[in-house]
Amino acid sequence: MYEKVIELIEKNESWRKSCLNMIASENTASPAVRSAVASDFGHRYAEGLLGGRDAEGLQIFERFYQGTKFFDDIESIAMKLTEELFSAEHVNLVPISGAVANLVAYSALAKYGDSISGLSIMCGGHISHTHISAAGVMGLKDFPYPFDNKEMNIDVDGAKKIVREKRPKLMILGGSLFLFPHPVRELREIADEIDAYIMYDGAHVSGLIAGGQFQNPLKEGVDVFTSSTHKTFPGPQGGMVMCKSYLKEKVDNAAFPGMMSNHHLHHVAGYAIAAAEMKKFGKAYAGQIVKNAKALAQALNERGFDVLCEHKGFTESHQVVMDVSKIGHASVIAQDFENANMIVNKNLLPWDSLLRTKDPSGIRIGVQEITRFGMKEGEMEEIAEFMKKVAIDGSKTENIKNEVIELKKNHAEIGFSF
Ligand SMILES: *Cc1c(COP(=O)(O)O)cnc(C)c1O
Repeated sequence: MYEKVIELIEKNESWRKSCLNMIASENTASPAVRSAVASDFGHRYAEGLLGGRDAEGLQIFERFYQGTKFFDDIESIAMKLTEELFSAEHVNLVPISGAVANLVAYSALAKYGDSISGLSIMCGGHISHTHISAAGVMGLKDFPYPFDNKEMNIDVDGAKKIVREKRPKLMILGGSLFLFPHPVRELREIADEIDAYIMYDGAHVSGLIAGGQFQNPLKEGVDVFTSSTHKTFPGPQGGMVMCKSYLKEKVDNAAFPGMMSNHHLHHVAGYAIAAAEMKKFGKAYAGQIVKNAKALAQALNERGFDVLCEHKGFTESHQVVMDVSKIGHASVIAQDFENANMIVNKNLLPWDSLLRTKDPSGIRIGVQEITRFGMKEGEMEEIAEFMKKVAIDGSKTENIKNEVIELKKNHAEIGFSF
């Protein structure tokens, strides 16, 4: 069995190198980040609370275990870099995933039985925003904002009306199907009126925000900003909670000892390197992502795909979303794409019923990872052509796969990193 596992790891590694990986929630970390993740920190514990700051402005920790002297400085640097990148007054790096970051925020800001508002899953809300998952674990009652299907955004007037009526304790913005900035400023006033917190879940877009290419929710008035660290932000898998300083203690206590015992030190070490990469290369990286997303959307649309939101330039994020219901089943098309080494996911769209989770009408594409491998607008044209050949012309996937492998071969080096 040992040999079998090693073989499968190696097979995946070489297959992934020959694929166009376009799942919108994924990325490839740089070699430096990967070596940090494989370091000794993966074996260690550093439970503990924050003390003050030292003369350099680095965080001092009060740990429960010995042996953390080097890690403490790493976590401090990671916090400092994060605060700079996101203009955050405080960050907690203890959550081990985006969903856990949301759990931390819920337990900091709401009580069992409170109401929360967010997007429905079809409209891009994450399961952790609903009773199906993390919010349900916390006993929170979720209700959705009305959604404007044409604009692919929250219907602001409708949202104001329903939150005034239902008075949630926490208003969630952000989501997993996320083409355009959400109306943070527009909803701040109503949140104050009903005495609710606003939590922005930037799991998908935090790399774009760090690179200055997407709304900065903390500057626009949210109380808490939760995120994964591995989607457009090119870190190892993990989570974080950023907040205004008036929530520092609540958030920290909710993370430890509230929700977590040890955090994942190897993740924090890898994340610190990714944050340093973002500080140096983030602007160029995020800028190219949005250019590529727009170029891919345009090229797909020109080739007969029904790409959402043409009237708004298709997208302002790393995502391109199309409705393929007129040409087939998204589940089949996504599998055909995989057979041609193009990895994307089928996705519910606002007009799908939740019962169609396994057979939805959308395809969601993320360009962040191919952008990190140096692809630009010209390559987006080529990829759109491959997709057309597979999904519209019915070409043999084996033939397109060979063309995909050729394209990827010329983009084997990861960029935007040291
Ligand atoms: C991916 C995602 C999460 C969950 O993040 P994990 O790191 O997978 O736990 C939370 N919220 C949104 C909006 C997401 O897209």
